[in-house]
Amino acid sequence: MKAGPNILITGTPGVGKSTLSQQIAERSGLEWVSVSDLARDNLFYDGFDEERQCPILDEDKVLDELEDMIAEGGKIVDYHGCDFFPERFFDIVFVLTTNNTILYDRLAARGYQGTKLTENIECEIMNVIRDEAMDSYNNDIVHVLPSNSPEDMESNIERIILWIEAWKRDNGSSS
Ligand code: ADP
Repeated sequence: MKAGPNILITGTPGVGKSTLSQQIAERSGLEWVSVSDLARDNLFYDGFDEERQCPILDEDKVLDELEDMIAEGGKIVDYHGCDFFPERFFDIVFVLTTNNTILYDRLAARGYQGTKLTENIECEIMNVIRDEAMDSYNNDIVHVLPSNSPEDMESNIERIILWIEAWKRDNGSSS
C-alpha cells in the first residue's frame, strides 16, 4: 500500500511551486521532491542549453531515480514541465498560474532577464504548461490554481491538504 498520494505541482518558473510544495510537505507529512534539486544534486544533466543558459535535464535518469520514490507513495513532485513523467506516477496534478505582470516582477526579482525572462512570460501567457498537463494526464485529475497573492497561496494549501486527508480516508491510510 502507498504511504500517501503522489502529487505533481507544475507551472511556469516563478508561479510558486516550491513555496507551495514546501508548505504542503510541512503540514501534511508528505515528502517534497524538487526535480530541479534532484537533478542538480545528482548531475542528471545531458548537456547545456547555451541560448537559455541552463543545463538540459536528463529525463531518463530523473525517471529512474523517481521510480522507487513514487512506488513508496506520499511524494509531492515539483517541476516546470510535466509531459515526460509517466501518467501512472500521479494521483492528482495541480497547475499553478500567475498573472503575467506579477510573474514578470517575481522573475525579474530572481535576476531573470533578456530571453530567459521573456520566454517564461510568454510560456505563461500562452498557457504552455497548463496545456501540457491537459495533454499528458486525464483531465479529471488536473486542477488549475491561481497563485497571485498570499491569499491564493493559503487557499491552495488548504485545498490540497483537504484533498490529501480525503485521499487517506478513501485509501485506508492511517498516517
Ligand atoms: P517556483 O518554484 O514556481 O519557481 P517559487 O515558489 O520559488 O516559484 O516562488 C517565486 C517567488 O514568488 C518567491 O519569492 C515566492 O515567495 C513568491 N510567491 C510564490 N507564490 C506566491 C503567491 N501566491 N503570492 C505571493 N508571492 C508568491
